[in-house]
Amino acid sequence: MQFIDLASQQTRIRRTIEERIRKVLDHGQYIMGPEVFELERTLAEYVSMPHALSCASGTDALLLALMALDVQPGDAVFTTPFTFMATAEVIALLRATPVFVDIDPVTFNIDPAKLAPALQAVESGDAANHPLPRGAVGWGLRARGVIPVDLFGLPADYEQINAIARSRKLFVIEDAAQSFGAKINGLKACALSELTCTSFFPAKPLGGYGDGGMCFTNDDELLDLMRSLRIHGQGEDKYENVRIGINGRLDTLQAAVLLAKFSIFEEEVQLRQEVAARYTQLLGELEVELIPPLVPSGALSAWAQYSVLARDEAHRAACLDRLRAAGIPSAIYYPKPLHLQRAFKDLDYREGDFPVSEDCARRIFSLPMHPYLKAEDQERICRTLKG
Ligand SMILES: *Cc1c(COP(=O)(O)O)cnc(C)c1O
Repeated sequence: MQFIDLASQQTRIRRTIEERIRKVLDHGQYIMGPEVFELERTLAEYVSMPHALSCASGTDALLLALMALDVQPGDAVFTTPFTFMATAEVIALLRATPVFVDIDPVTFNIDPAKLAPALQAVESGDAANHPLPRGAVGWGLRARGVIPVDLFGLPADYEQINAIARSRKLFVIEDAAQSFGAKINGLKACALSELTCTSFFPAKPLGGYGDGGMCFTNDDELLDLMRSLRIHGQGEDKYENVRIGINGRLDTLQAAVLLAKFSIFEEEVQLRQEVAARYTQLLGELEVELIPPLVPSGALSAWAQYSVLARDEAHRAACLDRLRAAGIPSAIYYPKPLHLQRAFKDLDYREGDFPVSEDCARRIFSLPMHPYLKAEDQERICRTLKG
């Protein structure tokens, strides 16, 4: 049994993938070939956003977005501490300051009710009602924007977050690295704020055979800026450079693989719904003492992960031991919230600053999840968890 089974998917579409790759080998445009633009058009249409700009990874997508918004040292960008490193890393890379906001214990996404107090804390420099990065308070932080993350494939609460951001003229960048294919209130993930980012890392819902990412936006100006930043800040032609940028292009070969994979993507999103529903049903029927993930009404998760909560850390360790003994793979996303990572030690956050994230980090774990997971394997997993 595999945690994420990419081989079953490949067996289904191997010929399509090979045809797509052969076409690239024939035309030889390995950099910015026609598949890159075809993928941008195809995915922009899929998520109903006016513009898509492909890039080398989900991390680069976030970086390009922040660079286009001219994020500077002294800027505060609000995000969740319960996410993959890249979300906060790009903020710090630009010498801006990640200001963490704790999560909702049910959705694992940034808690919109805690965003307003966090904003007030930054604006007043007073951490009485929200823990600020002690190492950065003296800098006189300027609130610039929010990066909500659609963790495990479930969109964050953009209705509330966008409203708060609009009233304070803050940007919102949707980190949809795990949620491509998800929906909420009739809108697709990657269309939930004015500038959005996703990843095509192989293990993501739409994954390539290597790194890749994409930005989406409805803002023509931001699109032009990101297009320039993606290729060394280029101007009208290739050897005119008008700003400092990066080498952030998506390979043509990756675009070709992604186009082949996209041909069955919608069906895979549907299969993931069935796998997730079966887990939740089995855990209930067997009365396994674990809290299954809950999808709020109006939302559809892309189910990048199926993550459950154990009673406490010892209970989780016992569950993981049982799975290991039965040869069943599992994973912990995430064992340490970002505010406690050594990489951010200069911010001087402390244990206890974000208790919900810290509690989840101690209790959460993820079960094998992919569109081709068999019912009998799910039964074995759930029976093993029952003990
Ligand atoms: C995977 C991931 C990223 C980074 O994507 P890469 O393509 O690996 O660079 C960013 N944010 C989140 C939430 C992710 O899960």
